[in-house]
Amino acid sequence: MKTRLYRIEELNQSHVQEDIKNTLLSGKLVVFPTETVYGIGAHALDEKGIKRIYAVKGRPSDNPLIMHVSHTQDVFLYTKNHQPYVSKLMEAFWPGPLTMVFEKKDHVPLIITGGLNTVGIRIPSNIAALKIIDIAGVPICAPSANISGRPSSTQFSHVLNDFKDRVDIIIDGGKTEVGLESTVVDVTGPVPVILRPGVITKDMIVAVTKQVMIKQEVSDQEVSKAPGMKYKHYAPKGKMMIVDGAQQDVINFINQHIEKHNKNNQSVGVIVTNDLINCFKKAIVLSLGDPKHEQEIASNLFAVLRQMDEENIEYIYSLSFHQGVYGEAIMNRLMKAANNHIIHL
Ligand code: AMP
Ligand code: MG
Repeated sequence: MKTRLYRIEELNQSHVQEDIKNTLLSGKLVVFPTETVYGIGAHALDEKGIKRIYAVKGRPSDNPLIMHVSHTQDVFLYTKNHQPYVSKLMEAFWPGPLTMVFEKKDHVPLIITGGLNTVGIRIPSNIAALKIIDIAGVPICAPSANISGRPSSTQFSHVLNDFKDRVDIIIDGGKTEVGLESTVVDVTGPVPVILRPGVITKDMIVAVTKQVMIKQEVSDQEVSKAPGMKYKHYAPKGKMMIVDGAQQDVINFINQHIEKHNKNNQSVGVIVTNDLINCFKKAIVLSLGDPKHEQEIASNLFAVLRQMDEENIEYIYSLSFHQGVYGEAIMNRLMKAANNHIIHL
């Protein structure tokens, strides 16, 4: 298959719109940018397209897909028994990086919900994403456009790497704005439950709903409300460790390990912020950006993890990022990338 590539400016051209519509309505795949990460899109109510998503991503079939719609009223076509706080969340955070998990109506196929009787839905704010949903005229399932288990795609080059000539169409939207996937909130009960942290934070949700709970990580065996939580995620090829502690201790610890790996002829990478770039020698040092700009750090995370792979790094050490508004979302991705391997000095 030869993938057709379009730039977002071309979405206004009628032949491009026709191609996108025909592709999606015939059960084929279109990769497109959203404000969070790139999504791999298929017609949400067509089994053929959904099966293709699972196959191309290599995604386990019990890990559900998020449905993307462009208007609030569409949500009511697919979901039922809404809690009173739901409309407040919609008003506060849609369009935007918040996914709500609702009780699904019967006609929503179980194949997109991983067999659950709930469905995750969001309205993205990215103009290209909204345009594609409108062009298709149907809801679009769009999980993150990465091979399952690998870092999500936040740049056009990432999706080319993973999906060129494996999907019908890829839309080039440059670098995505947020760079982390949506916050996922279960809104089926009287109190909303955060299943996956994101840039819509607990505090932001509490400000709207007064109460919120956070779902703890689950074991492999546990039957979970968020099956995605139990799978390996965002993993670079190298073995990754997060190092947490006082700054100088962290620098010393990592330098000692660099020394050891160098002696054993093993390649080492360090994930840092701009202020610490020069603290490590004889290692590939990649910065997430200015430590005062959390947004920048979040949006560079997946690109840096992918770059470690391009450099064939065998051992990766990362600083920890607890602080600030995005700290929880950033640490959630880092911990998964490191397979929960953290050392507290
Ligand atoms: P991705 O599309 O790759 O960003 O992953 C979607 C995430 O949303 C996964 O962690 C899923 O487990 C979660 N999710 C989607 N739909 C549901 C649902 N119905 N119930 C619980 N979690 C969901
Ligand atoms: Mg994903």
